[in-house]
Amino acid sequence: MDVLEFAVTGTHIWYYYCCQREVWLMLHQVNADQDDANMDLGRFLHEMTYARDRSKEITLGNIRLDIVRQEDDEMVVGEVKKSSKYLTSARMQLAFYLLELKERGIAARGELLFPKERKREVVELTAELEQELATATAAIRSLAAEPRPPQAKKIALCRNCAYKEFCWA
Ligand code: SF4
Repeated sequence: MDVLEFAVTGTHIWYYYCCQREVWLMLHQVNADQDDANMDLGRFLHEMTYARDRSKEITLGNIRLDIVRQEDDEMVVGEVKKSSKYLTSARMQLAFYLLELKERGIAARGELLFPKERKREVVELTAELEQELATATAAIRSLAAEPRPPQAKKIALCRNCAYKEFCWA
């Protein structure tokens, strides 16, 4: 594939921090198991997110973020998650969206909300996070240019993964 011809998305970032093999398979358009109930890669992420009040949301491409509140000249955007199991992925994905907002001239900070766990995680787009996102984005581009995917490693995510037959059959 031409590594210059795709835009790194928040979904790539999310999976990059869980399973780089899955990022490679997605980027190389390897067909997921058509019969798998979890076939739609977006579905898993969607299921990790509660249905939300759509009245106050901001749209970034196909991503919708809730506007939690406006604080002075800063917007607070949030994502409500069912579980903090994939916290690093969720944090980096939200940081990626904050960066996208920043690039559109919108100052925002993020909140990950885990109501079942009564937890809230503030995500501020620091210089360190921006640097980490730049590193992850470059790494995703390098990964895409690899002729073969990284080796499969058994992780909790495999249970719900559309590629589980491909990796483990
Ligand atoms: S089945 Fe597991 S190893 Fe294979 S792509 Fe999915 S999460 Fe990664």
